Amino acid sequence: MTISKKIELFITKASWIRRMFEEGARLKAIHGPDNVFDFSLGNPNVDPPPAFKQALKEIAGNAAAGLHAYMPNPGYPFVRKAVADFVSGEQQAAVAENDIIMTCGAAGGLNVILKTILDPGDAVLVPAPYFVEYGFYVDNHGGSLKNVATNPDFTLNIDAIDQALTPDVKAVLINSPNNPTGQVYSAESLAKLGALLASKSRQFSRTIYLVSDEPYRKIIYDGVRVPGIFTAYPDSIITTSYSKDLSIPGERIGFIAVNPAAAHRNSLIGGLSLANRILGFVNAPAMMQRVVAAVQGTAVDVGHYARKRELLCTGLQKLGYKFVKPAGAFYLFPKSPIPDDVEFVRALQDELILAVPGSGFGGPGHFRLAFCVDDAVITNAMPAFGRAIRKFE
Ligand code: PLP
Repeated sequence: MTISKKIELFITKASWIRRMFEEGARLKAIHGPDNVFDFSLGNPNVDPPPAFKQALKEIAGNAAAGLHAYMPNPGYPFVRKAVADFVSGEQQAAVAENDIIMTCGAAGGLNVILKTILDPGDAVLVPAPYFVEYGFYVDNHGGSLKNVATNPDFTLNIDAIDQALTPDVKAVLINSPNNPTGQVYSAESLAKLGALLASKSRQFSRTIYLVSDEPYRKIIYDGVRVPGIFTAYPDSIITTSYSKDLSIPGERIGFIAVNPAAAHRNSLIGGLSLANRILGFVNAPAMMQRVVAAVQGTAVDVGHYARKRELLCTGLQKLGYKFVKPAGAFYLFPKSPIPDDVEFVRALQDELILAVPGSGFGGPGHFRLAFCVDDAVITNAMPAFGRAIRKFE
C-alpha cells in the first residue's frame, strides 16, 4: 500500500459520501441538472451580503505595505478585538482580544481545540446525530468519539449524558443549531449540562471541557434565540465560522473564543495559538480577517432560508413525512418511512432526489435534506417525494 492503512480505511468509511457525489454527477449528466433534486450538500446558495462584498473591495484595494505578511498565530490584534467585542455581547461575558484565535473555519477551529486539549485515549462525547466529520477530527488528535443519544425531538438528554460521562471523557462537543437536525438547545438544558460537567469534573478531578461548534448561530427561525454557553459553564470554548452566515465557506475564516472564566485560560490560549501554527494553518487568511472585522454582526438574509424551510416542511408534511421542524440551520432530518434509511435514500435516488442517510450522522432511521437550494428545486421535487413514500405505504 502507498497510503496509510488508516486513511485507506477512512476512504472506505466515507465512501457513501463519494458514491453520492458520483451518483449525483451521473444522474445530472443523464437527466440534466434541472431534473435532479440535489439536497445532499450544506453549501449555502444565498449570496453573501452586500456589506461583505463592499468591505472586500475596499480592503483588496488597499495598497499599504505588509498586508500579506505573516502575523501572530492567533491573528491580527485589531481583528481579535472586533470579534471579542461582538462575542462579549452575544455571550454576556467580558471576552477580551486575547480570548480570540482566528482560524481556518470552524473545521480548523475544532482541530486546533482538539489538538490542544486531547491526550491519547481521551474520549470526546457527542450528542447524536452529529456532524459526520467530528469522528475524523477527534481521531486526528488521538482521541475517540463516543456518542450519546438525544431525546426523540433531538434535544439534549441530560440523563443519558450523565451516564455516558466516564473518567476518560475530556470534552463534550455540542452543535446548536444542529447539523443535521436543526435543533437549538435551550438555556435550561445548557445550564443543566453545565452543572453536570462541573460536578463530574470535581468527581474525576480533571477539567471536562464544553466545546460548542456554532457555525449556524445566526441562521435561526421564528424568533428563536441561541443561548450563550459561557454563562452556563466556565470551562467552555466556542468555535464558529463565517461560512454559513456570510455564505463564504470557500474563504476558510472563523474563530475560537475561550471563556474568560476558564480555569486554565492562559495555558489554553497559549496551546491554541501553538496548535494553530503546528497544524500548518499558521494563521487564518489575512485578507478575510480584515473583511470579517469590518462586518461584525452582518449576516445573509435569513428570510430566504425561512421561506425554503416553509416550502419544504409544508410540502413534505402534506405527503405524510414525519419530522421535527428545524429551529435553525438549513437542514431537515425527517424519519425514514422504513427502518432502513439507506434503502429509503436509494428509493429517493430512483426518483432523482439526492439525500444523505441518517446512519452517516449517527441517526439511523432518518435522512438529511439540505434546503440551501433554489426554491424551484424544492417545489419541483414534491411529486418525486410523493412517489418515493408511496412505494412503502
Ligand atoms: N461544524 C458543522 C456542524 C458543520 O455543519 C460544518 C460544515 O458544514 C462545519 C463545522 C465546518 O464548517 P467550516 O469549517 O466551513 O466553518
